[in-house]
Amino acid sequence: MSVGENIKKYQELLGENVQLVAVSKTKPIEALIEAYEAGQRVFGENKVQEMVSKWEALPKDIQWHMIGHVQTNKIKYMAPFVSVVHGVDRLKVLKELDKQAQKVDRVIDCLLQIHIAEEQTKFGFDPEEMKALLPELNTYSNVRVRGLMGMATNTSDKDQIKQEFMHLRELFDQFAQKQQWDMLSMGMSGDYQIAIQAGSTHVRIGSAIFGARNYAV
Ligand SMILES: *Cc1c(COP(=O)(O)O)cnc(C)c1O
Repeated sequence: MSVGENIKKYQELLGENVQLVAVSKTKPIEALIEAYEAGQRVFGENKVQEMVSKWEALPKDIQWHMIGHVQTNKIKYMAPFVSVVHGVDRLKVLKELDKQAQKVDRVIDCLLQIHIAEEQTKFGFDPEEMKALLPELNTYSNVRVRGLMGMATNTSDKDQIKQEFMHLRELFDQFAQKQQWDMLSMGMSGDYQIAIQAGSTHVRIGSAIFGARNYAV
């Protein structure tokens, strides 16, 4: 299937309640244009520089989601246009986002990334660290935390993936009302169905739409 056909397939499959973040990292502009022409307006990238060049080249009604681990010295380049930063995994990122958003007179939406996988390599706050951070959030006037993001362990054990997503969902539910959270970002090409069952509002799908990537990221 073509990129355009895949976009239509996933948009239909996900319906109104789950948003598709089309993860276009490493893919050429032509592939994004094909997705755009099929109606896709939300794209996910994991490198600031790459997202900036794509933003410059493409129509301005696209919403750009930063889904990767963020280096704080790059934040200033995306602050003027980024729509949602999914991977806020440490306080330093939140502070720098707030500072750079202030300079361009914006409020940037973001998600706190929670470490739910068993692998040590995945980034994110531990639930306890996150809870400790919550009372502080309203001191940052130019960022708005809208919810949580997480990545499950890379395993074929569906029960484990489900448990990890449910864990994140429970954490989300615990604070959603008080914090006015409305975004729960979980699920990728291999596990989005489990994520949706567990209550995901935003799935980040890359290779199932655009094909396998040429290099590991
Ligand atoms: C690359 C990436 C995705 C998409 O992964 P696929 O398996 O290609 O769907 C989703 N989330 C994050 C954080 C990523 O880095």
